[in-house]
Amino acid sequence: MSRSIITVIGSLNADLITRTSRIPSPGETLTSSSFSIGCGGKGANQAVACVRLSRPKKRDARLKASHDDAAASILVRMEGAVGDDAFGQSLIGALEGDGIDVSGVQVRRDGGTGVAVILVVEGSGENRILLSPGANATLRPEAFGSLATPVPDLLVVQLEIPLDTVLATLRAAAACSPPVPVLFNPAPAAATLPQWAYEMVEHLVVNETEAAILYGASEEHVRSNLSQVGKEFQRRGARNVVITLGKSGSWFTSGSGEDGQQVVAAARADVVDTTGAGDTFIGAYAVSVVQQRREGGRFSIRSAVEWANRAAAKAVEREGAMESIPWLDEV
Ligand code: ADP
Repeated sequence: MSRSIITVIGSLNADLITRTSRIPSPGETLTSSSFSIGCGGKGANQAVACVRLSRPKKRDARLKASHDDAAASILVRMEGAVGDDAFGQSLIGALEGDGIDVSGVQVRRDGGTGVAVILVVEGSGENRILLSPGANATLRPEAFGSLATPVPDLLVVQLEIPLDTVLATLRAAAACSPPVPVLFNPAPAAATLPQWAYEMVEHLVVNETEAAILYGASEEHVRSNLSQVGKEFQRRGARNVVITLGKSGSWFTSGSGEDGQQVVAAARADVVDTTGAGDTFIGAYAVSVVQQRREGGRFSIRSAVEWANRAAAKAVEREGAMESIPWLDEV
């Protein structure tokens, strides 16, 4: 059986993380307690989650470019852009090291790699983030008029690249014959998402904040009216809807009538840092979609959600975003 392909089109960022006992006041300079540089961006994180949750760590460590490995049943392809700088090189190296096909990551000479400057307050874990999109903003819709061949079994997209470009990828997926199913994670949420975009979406996965912005209500309203919100997203055209609820787990409604409309409890975790939980959830869910299709039979969204909850619970037990994403044999 040939390998299945998951293509992730999205952002790649360097995360510059400073930890502090408190946020400096205007004009004040504080000495931070620690500083680190990590790889991130929702696109890159989700690509890493797809690859790690589709194969065990031990085998993968020996494989630089595991897309050449016939034994790997799922190939993960990343498409995006970085700058011609050290951050870009280290992102490409990290993704390649995990076995992701990075041939679709363009290196721009006219802009730096996207950077997220993250201030984390120790104790509370509260963070403040300033995102400079850099090369991510150079992805133009014209370049995504059609999907690269061979077309993937699943396309995964988010909103950290220009909205027009994301919309072009949705159209390109729909124009394939047969259409390529899309897992859309509209994050960070844009209230301006046109309604027709939902019609292109097989799997809509949002957290409570994103659900609230897209639905146009408070997070409290979303939490106490999940069925109403899920039905509205389905009315707009999305087939399967998943709303993740942090430590409470996740909620789903399926397009196939599978019994849902209820919360699937989170797996138990000793929480260290919840960064990366959502991206891990999405990678795991994507892998389940593709694997269930390989195995034939009807798609069970419940089984995808339960597995994604388990994978995401592992991620919250470790510090960091990309570093915290578990491999298959760790879940
Ligand atoms: P995001 O990271 O996008 O804000 P959530 O906070 O909703 O998304 O978390 C995504 C998923 O991660 C949840 O659906 C759940 O499965 C898992 N998760 C998050 N926080 C915890 C926690 N404290 N314990 C166990 N699982 C968690």
